[in-house]
Amino acid sequence: MQVDAAVIGGGVIGLAVAMRLARGGMDVALLERHDSFGREASSRNSEVVHAGMYYPTGSIKARLCVAGNLALYAWCDAHGVRYRRIGKFIVATSPDESPALEAILARGVANGVQGLRWAAAGELAREEPEVRAAAALWSPFTGIIDSHGFMQSLADEAAAHGALLGWGHAYAGAERTADGYEVRYRSPEGLEERMTASRVVNAAGLAADEVAAGMGLDIDALQYRLCFVRGCYFRLSDRWTGRLAHLVYPVPHAGLSGLGVHVTVDLAGGARLGPDVEVLAEKVQDYRVASDRAEAFARAAGTYLPNLRLEDIRPDQAGIRARRVVPGGGAPDFIIAEEGGRGLPGWVNLVGIESPGLTCALPLADTVYALLA
Ligand SMILES: Cc1cc2nc3c(=O)[nH]c(=O)nc-3n(C[C@H](O)[C@H](O)[C@H](O)COP(=O)(O)OP(=O)(O)OC[C@H]3O[C@@H](n4cnc5c(N)ncnc54)[C@H](O)[C@@H]3O)c2cc1C
Repeated sequence: MQVDAAVIGGGVIGLAVAMRLARGGMDVALLERHDSFGREASSRNSEVVHAGMYYPTGSIKARLCVAGNLALYAWCDAHGVRYRRIGKFIVATSPDESPALEAILARGVANGVQGLRWAAAGELAREEPEVRAAAALWSPFTGIIDSHGFMQSLADEAAAHGALLGWGHAYAGAERTADGYEVRYRSPEGLEERMTASRVVNAAGLAADEVAAGMGLDIDALQYRLCFVRGCYFRLSDRWTGRLAHLVYPVPHAGLSGLGVHVTVDLAGGARLGPDVEVLAEKVQDYRVASDRAEAFARAAGTYLPNLRLEDIRPDQAGIRARRVVPGGGAPDFIIAEEGGRGLPGWVNLVGIESPGLTCALPLADTVYALLA
């Protein structure tokens, strides 16, 4: 088989890229090792459409998040994907946290986030009577989305433009050829097969660093190496159904390693707390949620939900962030790199696509298309 572009990984990023390249007229083949799309980070997240006030001004995350927010709502309207633009309060639980809110507001304005403002006196109490805070910001463009429906629509659109979506096909390596790459993969029957591709996009999520290393790139020098950072969720009991109408986030952790234990409402009206932040010692996809964390979750959320009781929460799912290992820690920016300058023309690495990757998927795919077209 010969294609214009091979895409490794069928999470939301690989799907968006495959869709965009196929729409742009390329013959595309996508390789996904699981038997369907979105079995890793893309189905284990908060399903929040972020607005873009957290990320450093000028960063790829900030730029793509602000663009992706609007693009995602427009896509959902055009493709019948369920979403609700329910808005978000970011709350300071004590007056000492107000300067942190001021900084978020200033960054949001600098990043071009629409509608971000202080909540007016009485507004939080009226909109969210369960929430106690000293001050709050209101972000009207933050929302929630049916991420499975979004991925299905990307897969449908990619297929409608001729992309081959290879579920159960595991990428196994690639070699440079005169005009592209010979890509090796294992079929669902376990056979090793090959195709030639003029271009390759590495959207392998948690394995993106290994895929890049396999092409001879020094992932430590390039700061592509990933660690696994687990985020666990706890679900609120039915006692809370309908009692929270918006997303409620505390002031983020210092260094932006996570956004703090927040409340997300889902499209079914339920609510969850999380995710927390736990760097895993080993790179294993361990999605267990230890029930003994309940107290820490209840304590964290209890700072702004005074009526929350320990017995109101039970372990829910976990997801694992693909976080780049960089000096100083924190939450590093995305890598979107065409590697022609490193001897791999037409090869794009997408590394460290953690939150807000779901929100950024569409403009990120446009960026990849611009690099490869
Ligand atoms: C806890 C958590 C909460 C989050 N919350 C939000 C949020 O609210 N809003 C938001 O915008 N973003 C959020 N994110 C980020 C978002 O989920 C990710 O940025 C996004 O899902 C990344 O998509 P991806 O396609 O890069 O990765 P993945 O979804 O992990 O997909 C990578 C795919 O590559 C495949 N793959 C790997 N190796 C191979 C191989 N050798 N051969 C074939 N296939 C391979 C994997 O099987 C996988 O399907 C969150 C992430 C986490 C973990």
